[in-house]
Amino acid sequence: MYNGDMTVLPIRTLGDPVLRTPAEPVTFFDAKLRRLADDMIETMYAAPGLGLAAPQVGVGLRLFVFDVDWEPNGDTSRASRRPRVVVNPVLELGPGEQTDQEGCLSVPGHQYSTTRAATATVRGVDLAGDPVVYSGDGLLARCLQHETDHLDGMLYLDRLTGLSRRAAQRALRDAQFGPPGGDQRGAVGGGLLRALRRQR
Ligand code: ZN
Repeated sequence: MYNGDMTVLPIRTLGDPVLRTPAEPVTFFDAKLRRLADDMIETMYAAPGLGLAAPQVGVGLRLFVFDVDWEPNGDTSRASRRPRVVVNPVLELGPGEQTDQEGCLSVPGHQYSTTRAATATVRGVDLAGDPVVYSGDGLLARCLQHETDHLDGMLYLDRLTGLSRRAAQRALRDAQFGPPGGDQRGAVGGGLLRALRRQR
């Protein structure tokens, strides 16, 4: 629900340690949490993106927002938005694989072919603490896996293999991301190397 008082938050980018830190479970379902979710939803649509996890706005809590039905290049009216919030998600992967282009608001300007489970289910709770379940294939399955990864300190770059992995390594070696005003060049290289080393 739009309360007219939402804030677009700065999105943390590759090299920021918060993206590499496993998030803590949510224990307080209060006004502060609802405000955070509202701001994350506003930030996701403004970006624009199909999903956003709390660490991406610098908050180490286990929640993410998503809306895979929303078409960033199509109808951008508020009426077309169907934002979902999942708190303390637990991910369950189905059989089979899918490979498609994947990107991340925390690695702006890049997309790489990424293999994911073909189907996925996330069980968690909503902002009131009531159980929610989201399950599906295609883009929804990809989104659920991508956002849950963020809560475990992982990025989709960690999932790359073969040619995609080498392309990312080349492209991001000299990339400059990180928090505004910070020189994160070294951290970016280190973060990516750590990500790529994990493949082995
Ligand atoms: Zn992401």
